[in-house]
Amino acid sequence: MLIGAHALVFTGTFDEAGLRTAIEGTTTAGFDLIEIPLMDPDGFDSQLAARMLKDNNLAVTASLGLTAQTDLSSDDPTVVARGESVLEKCLDHVATMGGDVLCGVIYSAMSKYAEPTTEARIAGSAAAIDRVAAKAADRGIRLSLEVVNRYESNLFNTGRGALAYLDRLQSDTVSVHLDSYHMNIEESDLFSPILDAGAQLGYVHIGESHRGYLGSGTVDFDELFRGLARIDYDGPVVFESFSSAVVNADLSNTLAIWRNLWEDSGDLAAHANRFIRDRIHGVDSISMH
Ligand code: MN
Repeated sequence: MLIGAHALVFTGTFDEAGLRTAIEGTTTAGFDLIEIPLMDPDGFDSQLAARMLKDNNLAVTASLGLTAQTDLSSDDPTVVARGESVLEKCLDHVATMGGDVLCGVIYSAMSKYAEPTTEARIAGSAAAIDRVAAKAADRGIRLSLEVVNRYESNLFNTGRGALAYLDRLQSDTVSVHLDSYHMNIEESDLFSPILDAGAQLGYVHIGESHRGYLGSGTVDFDELFRGLARIDYDGPVVFESFSSAVVNADLSNTLAIWRNLWEDSGDLAAHANRFIRDRIHGVDSISMH
């Protein structure tokens, strides 16, 4: 199981200096993996990132939230085609960096919708995800679809909703990506969605209820980690936290990061690394009970 950190814990810019800050900070905090958001695939240098990752012996995944201009669930085929083209560029970056996962809100826009989705939009998104998943599989990459709360997508907001969406797909390499921050808003508890997803759970985000220090909010992490142990989850577990201390023009505004919850990325990340590993270590013993 690889334990990782989201790059926005350390930096909001992904030029050479930003990449160095994020990759070295993630390594110093003790993580195995960094998740890099590819909000600007045209401006991203994946060859440079690949060299830095190798120097730091760090594994990588990438994530993305689509926009209204690249929404795979749009009724407008030109918008869907634009979204597929952006995702294909991201797949190339992931392959260049040596990663095997592209996750996040890649099936719709990551934004608040003003109306419910429609059957046609769900079907259109699923067809597009199947096409992208085939291109991903050609590059040895799997897609994992992040379940987010109602203010960030209208296609599905629970693990069960995501499983119903996966049932529509031809591809068997697409998985569910659960995030404790979103689960804490939408799910009835933090244990059953993990059991319901089972082998279809491919990626996990660990975030607190206010997205600050782990253990300082209302997320029931004990339930969550017991669930992961119960299904023998072995995929990436990635820490996410956002503060106005680190700003990315696209992502910070989309996620409504208005408040300053911490100042010191290094301290926050080292604490999260210990917090996650300690809980995984504890629940490992459950298999002996
Ligand atoms: Mn997340």
